[in-house]
Amino acid sequence: MAERSNVALPSNLFEGKTAIVTGASRGVGRATALRLAEGGANVVINYLKSEENALEVVKLCQNKGVEAIAVQADVSDMVEAQKLARQALERFGRTDLLVCNAGIWEGAPIEDMTEEVWNNVLNTNLKSAWAMTKGCVPAIKKQASGAIVMVSSTAGQRGEANYSNYAASKGGQISFTKALASELCPKIRVNAVAPGWIETAMVRPVFEDEEYKQSVLNSIPLNRMAATDDIALAICFLLSDWSRHITGEVLNINGGAVLCG
Ligand code: NDP
Repeated sequence: MAERSNVALPSNLFEGKTAIVTGASRGVGRATALRLAEGGANVVINYLKSEENALEVVKLCQNKGVEAIAVQADVSDMVEAQKLARQALERFGRTDLLVCNAGIWEGAPIEDMTEEVWNNVLNTNLKSAWAMTKGCVPAIKKQASGAIVMVSSTAGQRGEANYSNYAASKGGQISFTKALASELCPKIRVNAVAPGWIETAMVRPVFEDEEYKQSVLNSIPLNRMAATDDIALAICFLLSDWSRHITGEVLNINGGAVLCG
C-alpha cells in the first residue's frame, strides 16, 4: 500500500497557524504532522518514548519550510498535557489547531480485564483528549477561529469484542466531540475521524497471522487497508476552511467496511 497519495495540499492552507499533534512520532500522527507542514502550519510533534522518531518528523516538517518542535509528554497525565500546551504556546505564541491522536490498543475478554489495562486505555485514549482540549482551548479562543480533531475508531461506533475498554474510550471520544462542538461554537469547530484498519505499529502484531490479515482485507469493500496518509488527509480537511461549516461530525474512513451514520 502506497503510504502517501499523490494529492497535494495548498502551501497556504494552514499558513500562520500552529498545530499540536499528540502521538506524532509514528503512524497516523506522523502522517498528519507532515501534511500539516505541507499546508504551511508550524507543528508541535508530541511523543511518549520515541524521541529519535519524533526528531526525524521535526526535520521532515522543517524541510517543508515550516517550524517544528518535538515535545515529550505523557498526554494521559493532566500535568504533562498542560506542559505540552504551554510549551507550544511559549514557542509559537499561538495555538490554532489540535489533533488528539495518541492512543493505545490493548484489551482482554471482560472476565480477564484488569483494572490496570482498563485504566491505561481509558486514560491514554479518552482522558488525554480531555486534558489536551482543556489545556489548549484558552489559547485557541484567542484566535479568530480554531479547530480540533479527535482520532476515534470504528470501534467507537460498533464496539469491538475483547476490546471493550478500547471501544468505550473511542465511543467516549465521539460523544466528547459532540458535546464540545456545541460548547465551543462559534469560534472552535470540533470533529472526529473514525478510521477502520490502518497498518501501523499498533496493529502489526495481529497481522503477522497472514490468514487473519487476508480475512480483514476481504471484509473491506475497497479491498485495501488504509494508509496513514488517508487518515491524515481527512484530518486536514476537518482542520481547514474546506470544512468551515462542519462541526460535531464523525468522518468514517474505513473503505466501506462499516457503514455508520
Ligand atoms: P501507533 O501505535 O503507530 O502510534 C501511537 C502514537 O501514540 C505514538 O506516537 C506514541 O508515542 C503515542 N503515544 C502513545 N501513548 C502516548 C501517551 N500516553 N502520551 C503521548 N503519546 C503517546 O498508532 P496509530 O498511528 O495506529 O494510531 C493512532 C490513532 O489512531 C490512535 O488513537 C488509534 O486508536 C487510532 N486508530 C488506529 C487504527 C489502526 O488500525 N491502526 C484504527 C482506528 C483508529 P511513542 O512512539 O513515543 O510511544
